[in-house]
Amino acid sequence: MKRLEIDYQKVGLKVGLEIHQQLDTSAKLFCNCKPELFKEEPEITFLRGLRPTQSELGQIDPAAYFEFQKGVKILYEANRATSCLVEMDEEPPHPLNMEAVEITLIAALMMNAKPVEEIHVMRKTVIDGSNTTGFQRTCVIALDGEVKFGEKIVPIQHISLEEDAARKTGAEGNVLCYRIDRLGIPLIEVATAPVIKSPEEAEEVALAIGRVLRATGKVKRGLGTIRQDINISIPNGALIEIKGVQELELLPLVVKYEVQRQLKLMKISEELRARGIKEENIKEEFIDVTDVFKETKCKVLRKALDRNQHILAVKLLKFKSFLKRELMPSFRLGTEMSDRARFWGRVGGIFHTDELPAYRITKGEVEKLREAVEVEDQDAVVFVADNQENAKDALKAVVERAREAIKGVPQETRAPKPDGTTRYMRPRPGAARMYPETDIPPIQITEDYIRKIGLQLPELLEQKLERLMEEYRLNQKLARQVLDSKHSELFESIVKETKVSPTTVAAFLTETLKASRRDGVEVDKVSESQIREVFNQISTGELTKEAIPDVIVWLSSHENKGVREAIMSLGLKVISEDELRAFVEKVIEDNTSLIQERGENSFDVLMGMIMREMRGRVDAALVSRVLREKLKEFVRV
Ligand SMILES: [Zn+2]
Repeated sequence: MKRLEIDYQKVGLKVGLEIHQQLDTSAKLFCNCKPELFKEEPEITFLRGLRPTQSELGQIDPAAYFEFQKGVKILYEANRATSCLVEMDEEPPHPLNMEAVEITLIAALMMNAKPVEEIHVMRKTVIDGSNTTGFQRTCVIALDGEVKFGEKIVPIQHISLEEDAARKTGAEGNVLCYRIDRLGIPLIEVATAPVIKSPEEAEEVALAIGRVLRATGKVKRGLGTIRQDINISIPNGALIEIKGVQELELLPLVVKYEVQRQLKLMKISEELRARGIKEENIKEEFIDVTDVFKETKCKVLRKALDRNQHILAVKLLKFKSFLKRELMPSFRLGTEMSDRARFWGRVGGIFHTDELPAYRITKGEVEKLREAVEVEDQDAVVFVADNQENAKDALKAVVERAREAIKGVPQETRAPKPDGTTRYMRPRPGAARMYPETDIPPIQITEDYIRKIGLQLPELLEQKLERLMEEYRLNQKLARQVLDSKHSELFESIVKETKVSPTTVAAFLTETLKASRRDGVEVDKVSESQIREVFNQISTGELTKEAIPDVIVWLSSHENKGVREAIMSLGLKVISEDELRAFVEKVIEDNTSLIQERGENSFDVLMGMIMREMRGRVDAALVSRVLREKLKEFVRV
């Protein structure tokens, strides 16, 4: 098979990004709770039904309404440090957190956006249970910005401030589990115009926005603190929203697969129509084929039959061989139908004739099935095993998806998988989902306030990179690592207050810490002030560079202890040059025969011996100098 290389310009790809990043504030957006997650068992749990509140515009999210009809309940989990009555929707929201507003304004001004004159908090209907209120609070802070990447400029449509949603921790039957610690953590949302034209560009733009946000110094770091939604459209395809990509590196692949999926769906639609098939030819006629599988050896079907469930089938006219068409790696049109059936019918999955015989379903059974459903050669059959109601809902969803396949690409919201492919998440909600939050009055943003913030904008990361390279003579790789680490401020202050070389400090704060973390050392337990002290000791000659890793290991397991104690406890007290000279002389004396044999070539062996004894207590460069000197003297004698 020839590999498909897609010309994205020709395809007419348009991508827009919505970057959501948690802000590093001291409190949540609408209350005083700590914006942190907890790992322990919850102190409080409470059960609620889904409430599909009808917005003032009469819009209801069809997926949420469906779940509501199914009687879905939500079990919320909380603890007292991270949630209060606001998150539980038992108390109105407190005034907007102005620290979060300020960080958002800083980021907005750094992107040349125009702040709004008045902040209006709005409610955005979200009824999947991730908000106890049934809506998410959001407010536009600035409009019409831009972000540069390389030589290009991408317009930013708006920069908003939002409350993060509760996080899903599980599901059992009709009960979904959400933890509300994350609910209310301030999120900045940066939305680009849909002008990104290739998968690679999507990553570059996300990186550029991420750099601006990090330059504020006020955003949270680590997995889960940044999430990107991607809008992808191509002409004659559909606008698809992919929600919640966490890894930046995944963006290009997600875009690439989505384009591939849409192109293949368009091709399928063309071919189906060429077969003369119309949407109305796919009928919601479900046939009970339980009897066909009476004697089946297929485990899934057997289990269903033992529970007295039914097997219902539907004919897909002229769909033969389309269901096994691959749309993305390991993902076929049949998978797409299966996802729909799972979502709307709560069934485990579907069977279809394009993949049979298999799963111990025999050729004979397939023949009987085709007979029972009265299909012709070009037709396909889809069937499910479950209770009547679920099976019907599942097949209805399959029929709908089949009709959409004739039409082209359906609009939907999809969720990313770790391999870059995406799965059906829900239909795309209607556009009008916003209405005012009446509990919070509008907030004026004065020109004076904007001017003040504008006067002290942080340096853009690219400028800072240049400066780090120039001012501290770091190479580009190390300078970038310092920037990407959370220690760039610590780096500069250590370099300024000690005599240690910037490269040594930078290498420690990036590579050494990273390596120690990889080795299982809990480096996060070592405080910034302890790190400062380590470098002060190096600067004054009390500690050697070589001893740093040992000291860090010791400090990580001795909280609140000082570097001096580490030095004493580890026996790392630096020895004086005189002591070193005496020691080197002794080593030379003990090894005279070796030296007589090899002359100055014995250097490496002797150096090794000395460093084994002295590691961490003396600078290796000094040992080397003294040893060479003494060795020369000895050989000369
Ligand atoms: Zn709270």
